[in-house]
Amino acid sequence: MTTTTWVAAWDRADGAERARALFAEQFGAEPAGVWSAPGRVNLIGEHTDYNGGLALPFALPHRTYVAVRPATGDRIRLVSAQEAGVREVDLAAVAPGTVDGWPSYVAGVAWALRQAGHPVGGFDIAVDSCVPYGSGLSSSAALECAVAVALDALNGIGLAGTDAGRTTLTALCVRAENEIAGANTGGMDQAVSLRGRAGHALELDCRDDSVRQVPFDLTGHDLALLVIDTKAEHSHAGGEYAARRADCERAAELLEVGTLREIGPDDLGDALATLARVTGPEGADSALAEVLVRRVRHVVTEIGRVQEFVALLEAGRLTEVGAAMDASHASLRDDYQVSCRELDLAVETARDAGALGARMTGGGFGGSAIALVPAAAVQPVATAVAEAFEAAGLRAPAFLVATAEGPAA
Ligand code: ADP
Ligand code: MG
Repeated sequence: MTTTTWVAAWDRADGAERARALFAEQFGAEPAGVWSAPGRVNLIGEHTDYNGGLALPFALPHRTYVAVRPATGDRIRLVSAQEAGVREVDLAAVAPGTVDGWPSYVAGVAWALRQAGHPVGGFDIAVDSCVPYGSGLSSSAALECAVAVALDALNGIGLAGTDAGRTTLTALCVRAENEIAGANTGGMDQAVSLRGRAGHALELDCRDDSVRQVPFDLTGHDLALLVIDTKAEHSHAGGEYAARRADCERAAELLEVGTLREIGPDDLGDALATLARVTGPEGADSALAEVLVRRVRHVVTEIGRVQEFVALLEAGRLTEVGAAMDASHASLRDDYQVSCRELDLAVETARDAGALGARMTGGGFGGSAIALVPAAAVQPVATAVAEAFEAAGLRAPAFLVATAEGPAA
């Protein structure tokens, strides 16, 4: 029989102790404290954040832990249980393009705080994490946000104490990822890692960064959210992400709107007709027109599906959200064209094995899928997916059970 691999979330005290022990071993001293921040899954609302749209992520029980102690001067010394060796970065010299590899996520946050006028100096840091890397569960935001709350506390900045302050920290972590780590991502991951609430999904309005806490009660409905890490990594993912963003910007320009959020469901028909008439340098360009129509149709209908999903959650009708999840996946596969063989197989197999709904989550081209399943069906659905992957000659996927937990602290 095919076995299934599960990624367990560490108990918080255990995670903190791991980071503390790594710090003590590496730096020969005790840290000033240990902070942590969660990875996330997005229930629905994919590729909407950079279009000023809506998303509905929640914070995972899987967290990244950082043990930190301030140092004199501007030197940052870094070690991670997930990476080899000790790294050093001179904070005073940090600028876009100057820091290689994983330390850029840490130094980027310190840099962004400094850019915002906060007096952050050097520090020693040890990192350990049970958030899978590069699986679409946002280990990058978990690392940034853990560093953000650590530096906030150690420097007496006080932003982590209020939701408004956490909104500011969110923007600084996005700057760190965009400008110092060089990853052009939207703000959903950092927002939920800093502003999520246990037992709730976070309806995030990317137009103005406002949020609404939406009760997300899985156990009360005898349901579970199964995350399937397909382990697929497609090397073109970064380029495709940038291309999708460019398509959306192009469409918004042609439609004369600031972002695609301004296209409401009632305007969609007219907007698509306008785009269908788009011309390129050599006259009618039907290929470009078709692409832009698809992209806009995804973004506008996906925002509508977030609203539908939230309304069902607020009405206590969690068992009825499956159709919106399925429609989201179809739209991402057919119109936005960001799915892949592994994600499609995971989603279809989970549904056939009893999931109420399933979809890819995250940017696409690999990473993870989610399936809403009856609590008793978690193992049978996972087994069915693992068997389907094996039969298709694909790498074995990994699984985790997601519950909505608390934010960075
Ligand atoms: P995702 O956010 O989906 O997991 P990304 O490619 O955005 O994938 O971020 C993964 C990168 O973040 C890693 O390659 C590494 O550079 C950095 N990172 C995340 N977690 C850690 C960690 N525990 N230790 C060191 N670096 C980390
Ligand atoms: Mg990331």
